[in-house]
Amino acid sequence: MSLYIDIKYLHSISYRLENFKKKTQDLFNCRCPICGDSQRLKRKARGYFYRGKNDLYYKCHKCGVSQHFGTFLKNFDATLYSQYVVERYADGAHNKTSHKTVESVLKFEEPKFTKKPEPKLLDSIMDRLDTLPDDHEVIKYVTDRRIPRDAFDRLYFIPNVKDVIQLNDKYKNSIITTEPRLAIPFFDGTGKLLVVSLRGIRGESLRYINIKVDEDAPSIFGLDKVDPTQEVLVVEGPLDSLFLNNSIACAGTSFGKIDQLSIPKENITIIFDNQPKNREVGKLMNKYIISLISFPGTSGNLARCSRKRY
Ligand SMILES: [Zn+2]
Repeated sequence: MSLYIDIKYLHSISYRLENFKKKTQDLFNCRCPICGDSQRLKRKARGYFYRGKNDLYYKCHKCGVSQHFGTFLKNFDATLYSQYVVERYADGAHNKTSHKTVESVLKFEEPKFTKKPEPKLLDSIMDRLDTLPDDHEVIKYVTDRRIPRDAFDRLYFIPNVKDVIQLNDKYKNSIITTEPRLAIPFFDGTGKLLVVSLRGIRGESLRYINIKVDEDAPSIFGLDKVDPTQEVLVVEGPLDSLFLNNSIACAGTSFGKIDQLSIPKENITIIFDNQPKNREVGKLMNKYIISLISFPGTSGNLARCSRKRY
């Protein structure tokens, strides 16, 4: 129903958009009111409203702006936007994302309206899994791993792993292969891209390649979805976290990173992978038991993951 609401509001502002035209059922075109479009050619109209799953998005091929229809409306007509938000929320379409999110510094913020940030560069080099057909190689891979379908919009497919250097060219000499991979982007609470983890799907011996987009940010997956006011499950693997409610992943055993977040310690449960016990892991477990119980009045938890490791 949310698409219907988006289109309804688009129609209500369409007479104020220059050269507005309905191209197809789900595609609309106009002159871009953000950049003003071509000043020389008044007929040029490079702004497009298009459908993405259940929402409408706006993209301009001149200035490159790419945003959710809600964001567009907010800037175009703030009064109408507030009415739109009421209608969207009442519709229940965003119940899933109306919980609190956290930033990397983790100050609590207003519920985010946009379901999903649309980082332009990411979308130009990768395809989001919920847009791919069932017989696609990567869909077969995630289906075999029983990754829940409702998590597909958090995962991407990159046809050529080398393209990822566009996100940080520091890696241009280290990434020398060109195979396709499953891409797992890590966002902070504001939707900023921090890290992309690339999982081999054709049996590569290098199973994971991790690309830091923001080199100072903690590589923690799920900050864009987690609600720090509830119990937070902290696991090692980003893919594992997709199976658990309100879960984040540290991409390894360096759980120390979670100290950088202001999630209350008593809300945290650390879950180690169920791997053979060794001295190093033992030491780590001790360390976190001590750090979690040494805060008076708190009672963090430690558990072991018993899911089969793929
Ligand atoms: Zn524009």
